[in-house]
Amino acid sequence: MSTSVYPIEIGAIRGRVLLDGVQVVSADDLARIFPDDNQRIRAASPDEALSLSGNVLFLETAGKRILVDTGIGNLMPDLPGQMQTRLRETGVEPESIDTVILSHFHMDHIGGLLGADGQAAFPHARLVASRMEYDHWMREDLLATLDEVRAGRLRQTFAAYPRLDLVEGQAEVEPGVSLLPAPGHTPGHCAIWIESEGAHLLHVVDSWHCAAQVQLPDARPIFDVQPELATSTHRDLLARAEAESLRLLTYHLAFPGLGHIQRQGEHTVWLPA
Ligand SMILES: [Zn+2]
Repeated sequence: MSTSVYPIEIGAIRGRVLLDGVQVVSADDLARIFPDDNQRIRAASPDEALSLSGNVLFLETAGKRILVDTGIGNLMPDLPGQMQTRLRETGVEPESIDTVILSHFHMDHIGGLLGADGQAAFPHARLVASRMEYDHWMREDLLATLDEVRAGRLRQTFAAYPRLDLVEGQAEVEPGVSLLPAPGHTPGHCAIWIESEGAHLLHVVDSWHCAAQVQLPDARPIFDVQPELATSTHRDLLARAEAESLRLLTYHLAFPGLGHIQRQGEHTVWLPA
């Protein structure tokens, strides 16, 4: 098994998890990410060192080629995104991608939409995202509060893709693949629900960033735009995942980011696949 490409099947839907990269989180980083919950998170972390993977999902359904998020692209020169390389390695050319689903607009998810030349990395793709997410980030008054690089990147990205479909509520994007609102991390943050022939996968994306957060759903990473809403969404997803024994995918947990929720007494824990 490759350490950076992981095949996945959901009924008739075939896909791969592609590792965009791994960011090592130092003790100082962890304290910065969880300013109020650093000690609790550290105590609940199974591994000494924490790291954040970027797990990009590629799917094929009903003759369509889909990406869920795109990695960081060239936004971190020291650690450029590997997603496109991984995709090509598996024989999929970026030109053949039909649909790119964006879970939310943080740069580690949308950075890969532009190539090094500033052009669309997936020139024939339509983008699909939550209208709420688009309206939140693309308001001129909000763009004016962001640093120039980030604001410029957002403008440039959406200018490079003439086809953008904005959806509201739960919405099927391609057969068996739906956006499912999971707000709080960002206002329009969405999970992805994938269903085929009685099989399911719930991709919770950034509803939690590390395994310890499954045990501590009220721990708040600094990335969450609406922390209280994020916690309530997080709890809802955990409850559903536990009740329905759902197979889960996460964007940032150790590659490939697949696993289950298991109850252990008072709390739930993450069980990697
Ligand atoms: Zn993220």
